[in-house]
Amino acid sequence: MRKAVIAGNWKMHKTNGEARLLARAIKAGSAGVSHCEVVMAPPFTALAAVAEELKGTPLILAAQNVHWEAKGAFTGEISIPMLKDVGCGMVVIGHSERRQYFGETDASVNRRVRAVLESSLKPIICIGETLAERESGNHHSVVAQQLAGGLDSLTRRDLLRIILAYEPVWAIGTGRTASPETAQEMHGMIREWLSGRFGEEAQTVRILYGGSVKPDNIDALMLQPDIDGALVGGACLEAESFLRIIHYRL
Ligand code: PEP
Repeated sequence: MRKAVIAGNWKMHKTNGEARLLARAIKAGSAGVSHCEVVMAPPFTALAAVAEELKGTPLILAAQNVHWEAKGAFTGEISIPMLKDVGCGMVVIGHSERRQYFGETDASVNRRVRAVLESSLKPIICIGETLAERESGNHHSVVAQQLAGGLDSLTRRDLLRIILAYEPVWAIGTGRTASPETAQEMHGMIREWLSGRFGEEAQTVRILYGGSVKPDNIDALMLQPDIDGALVGGACLEAESFLRIIHYRL
């Protein structure tokens, strides 16, 4: 009922030439894939090059961030019309690195999400607790607060268009993945929260897991009932490992 999503967050990696090669290899290795949506989020500078490589394929181009205003005096920012113009179908919002290093808050996440929902783009909204928050037993309340803030003012209909990514900060880029059971427990909690706030539409929301997803742990993660895909960082930078993740085995 929920189509899986395997998304690669390239972060601040790949020049245009490198990006074309990676996109080409992923395109070749994922031809005919229909069990999941494959998403690539290169840096802004490589969006146009990757869009050209993906033309005519079902692969989805995503950006790693977006501003809520359509245009204006916002030096260094990128707007929704710009992303649509270059061929994006999705955009990552509120990644923990944006929250940690660039002052992103639940309120600014919410502004971005609401603007994106007024367009044809789909937001991939990231949430997740830090190690200190988990160790102090506050992980549920932290994630609930991120959901309440990030999804503020959304309607039940909006829910049909959003994708969530649960990414525990302690698992991102650390090689320390959440066990499938730990991840499932959080995904279950997130779905329950969505159910309480929005009702049965919660069942339609894809909730991706992110945090050191690799070829050797994707299969067990995808077996969990509330894990609907993965947001992949490090392992999406090489075609071979990302393709193995796309071709997960249940
Ligand atoms: C990410 O960037 O969203 C991520 C989960 O990174 P990594 O897979 O490298 O932990």
